[in-house]
Amino acid sequence: MCTGAPARSCWRLSGMASCDPMIANYHAHTWRCNHAVGREEDYVQAAIARGLKIFGFSDHTPYPFPWYYYSWFRMKTGELGDYTATIWDLKQRYRDSLEIHIGLEAEYYPGSFPELVALLKDHPVEYLILGQHFLDNEMGAHGSSMPTGNPELLTKYCRQTMDAMQTGLYTYFAHPDIFNFTGDRGLYQEQIRRLCREARSCGIPLEINLLGMEKGKHYPNRIFWEIAAEEGCQAVLGCDTHDSKALADTRSEENAMAMVRALGMELLETVPLRPIR
Ligand SMILES: [Zn+2]
Ligand SMILES: [Zn+2]
Repeated sequence: MCTGAPARSCWRLSGMASCDPMIANYHAHTWRCNHAVGREEDYVQAAIARGLKIFGFSDHTPYPFPWYYYSWFRMKTGELGDYTATIWDLKQRYRDSLEIHIGLEAEYYPGSFPELVALLKDHPVEYLILGQHFLDNEMGAHGSSMPTGNPELLTKYCRQTMDAMQTGLYTYFAHPDIFNFTGDRGLYQEQIRRLCREARSCGIPLEINLLGMEKGKHYPNRIFWEIAAEEGCQAVLGCDTHDSKALADTRSEENAMAMVRALGMELLETVPLRPIR
């Protein structure tokens, strides 16, 4: 069963509509993940300069893995307190000019997810976004961005992220098209249709990832988004900021808007945050 408030503040773009610039971004990182740069306050000031009204930090979550495994692209469990305290401070100081939220980008790893949720209960984390960078429980598993034609891995990616959405704990699904499948197109379409139907029935918006667009990555994947549009999924734009300077560049936002318009998709300006508790 899926729960959560229905989406609000949405508008549907028609072929002729002119688009308002984005007012909310819920996807941004901090230096703690070892591959983002700059001070948190620089991100806040760049968000204000861009005209954003809502800005959510969603750094790569710490994960309670076994002691012998080190996951290099995320903060350590012991850094979570400093992360939330730093953003909490900014939230208070900038409350008159920007609505700041404390989130995390979290894979769904069934082996450690209950422990993760238990850990988060001790911290003022307001929301989770789903970003499934690896299959299974990460350790020794297939990375979602690695090209593969293996149908079993694609099926597993879809099954695992559908299970994630069914937890009811994720606010939205970041770069849902990150799985880099090079095999049979018909199989890809069939599996992605299942995933999109689940997102729709769970009321989970799908993110068009602006970083992927800016860097020319394998996502956003046009085939994925054609299916998402056919299935009536809701889209949301996410900057996936790893450097505050990138917030000044709005070209990928414009490209994403053009894609949404061409597909006739519903685009959410803001997303209601799902409580983790
Ligand atoms: Zn990252
Ligand atoms: Zn991210």
